[in-house]
Amino acid sequence: MPGRPRSERPERPKKPKKPVRPRRKRCSVCGVVKPGDEYHHDSEAPDGLRAQCKECRSEYMHEYGIAHREERREADRIRRARDPEHYRQYEENRREEQIAKIKAVRKEAEQVYGGKCAKCGATEELEFDHPNGDGFEHRKIERPNAMLLRITREGRLTDFELQLLCAQCHLEKTREERALMTFRKVSLNDKRRMKELREQGMSITEIGEELDFPYGTVSYHLRAMRRKDIE
Ligand SMILES: [Zn+2]
Ligand SMILES: [Zn+2]
Repeated sequence: MPGRPRSERPERPKKPKKPVRPRRKRCSVCGVVKPGDEYHHDSEAPDGLRAQCKECRSEYMHEYGIAHREERREADRIRRARDPEHYRQYEENRREEQIAKIKAVRKEAEQVYGGKCAKCGATEELEFDHPNGDGFEHRKIERPNAMLLRITREGRLTDFELQLLCAQCHLEKTREERALMTFRKVSLNDKRRMKELREQGMSITEIGEELDFPYGTVSYHLRAMRRKDIE
C-alpha cells in the first residue's frame, strides 16, 4: 500500500537483533586478528562489533581530540552561551563529583596510614601531619591532593615521613610547636645575618610566598626558627 504515511502504518513487530559475535575477527585498521572482547559493541554493525579494535579506536579518538581541540572549544562555548543555566548545573554536578572523588582518594590514603589518629586513636576528621616538621618544604613541591593520589598508588611515602592526626590533636601539636619556636624575619639580602643565624642552629625557611605583598610575589623575607629545648 503505497502513499500511506509512516505513522498510520501498522507497527511491525521489531525483529530482535541478534548479532552474531565472532569469537575472533580481523581489525580493519591494524589488521591483527583479535578476540571479540577487544572490540567495542556497535549495534549497527552486522556482527555487533566495531570494525576497528579497541586499541586502534582509542588511538584514533585521542588523535581526533587533539586535531579538533579548537573546534570543540568553540562548540562548547556556543552551547554554553545558549543555555547557561544548564551548564551551571552541569558544572556544579561535576564539582560535586570531583569532591566525592577526592574524598574517596583521601579515605584510601588514610587507610594506608592506619586510618586513625596516632595520638588518640580517633578515626574521624583525620589530617596528615609531618612529624619531622618538613611539611612546608613538602607543600612547596607537591599539592596535598597530588600527595594523596600518590599514596594510593605507591603506598607509604618514602621521601617524606607522615602520620595521621585528628584535627584536635593536630591543632594541639601545632600550638605546642609554635610555642617552642622563635620566629624572626630576616632580610634575604642580609647574607651575613643569615649565616650567623644558621651557625646558631636556626633553620631558615623561605616564606616570601606566604606574605601578602601588594605589589607582587617577590620573596623578601626568610623565616628563621629554632626549636627551644624542651628539657
Ligand atoms: Zn586494531
Ligand atoms: Zn587525636
